[in-house]
Amino acid sequence: NADLALYRAKAAGRGNLVVYEHGMDMVVQDQHALEIDLRLALQRGEFELHYQPFIKISTGEISGFEALVRWRHPQHGLIAPDRFIPLAEETGGIVPLGAWVLERACTDASKWPATMRLAVNLSPVQLRNGRIVETVQAALAASGLDATRLELEVTETVMLAGSESREALKAIATLGASVVLDDFGTGYASLSYLADMPFSKIKIDRGFVADLPTHPTSRAIVGAITNLARELDMEITAEGVETEEQLLILKAAGCTNAQGFYFARPRPLCDIELPTRQQSFNALRRK
Ligand code: C2E
Ligand code: MG
Ligand code: MG
Ligand code: MG
Repeated sequence: NADLALYRAKAAGRGNLVVYEHGMDMVVQDQHALEIDLRLALQRGEFELHYQPFIKISTGEISGFEALVRWRHPQHGLIAPDRFIPLAEETGGIVPLGAWVLERACTDASKWPATMRLAVNLSPVQLRNGRIVETVQAALAASGLDATRLELEVTETVMLAGSESREALKAIATLGASVVLDDFGTGYASLSYLADMPFSKIKIDRGFVADLPTHPTSRAIVGAITNLARELDMEITAEGVETEEQLLILKAAGCTNAQGFYFARPRPLCDIELPTRQQSFNALRRK
């Protein structure tokens, strides 16, 4: 690789490209090292889950928590999923990692009050070749979590995937779990697919939420998505809510559920005080 970079640098003369190639090489090495670490990380127990609540806007009650994976790397510290999930997807490591996430999260949630739901993110790679239905079933069986408390979040890319992915989602819905469309509005979802898929909830991408106070077009889009969800008998959640202003606009647009730093950041389970019954967000906040 170093030879190749040198060759390219020579071929390019002494221009800017040399620096660029050098930078590329660093990135590649860095990624390669991470990739090797990633293979061992699971058996070394370096992954952990943080949980972020989602809230029913009308009452402020917590409906459940989304599990978000982090990698506690011995040298680099806590690594965000955006850094290593794509890598794990490339190597196939996402399949055992995803299975671990499911079982860990279901086991955690099985100890929560029965009103609390659990949301887990699924990668399109898991849906394609991960024997995902068996994996979900196994996690439910091992934890004893009721399937109806589990929500599985997928992004719009599943709609571009083959029919086996769509069949897997339908089978998951048949188990009694909910299938949620995450980051809606960022991908290529065609509206006709929406009605075709077993989605019971749509999560509006935080990009629209961020723009709400300043962009009337975002308000119009959020309003339209909310109406569409209602027509299709799907629930709707706005993600990435950071301010009260955003929340008020969402409420006015008819959005019923929200998630974001305004309510709580993702935190390790040990730092979360679970509401005993359906305790309100406001009550939690007063503590
Ligand atoms: P996501 O499923 O859309 O999760 C929401 C992301 O937005 C999380 O980032 C969360 O920390 C962040 N977030 C929540 N509220 C706010 C807010 O108010 N403002 C801002 N700026 N951000 C907010 P995170 O934890 O870094 O996860 C990023 C993505 O990584 C997730 O997006 C999901 O696609 C993926 N991911 C996380 N855990 C897993 C997993 O276990 N399996 C798979 N396949 N993907 C995962
Ligand atoms: Mg999600
Ligand atoms: Mg999302
Ligand atoms: Mg996302």
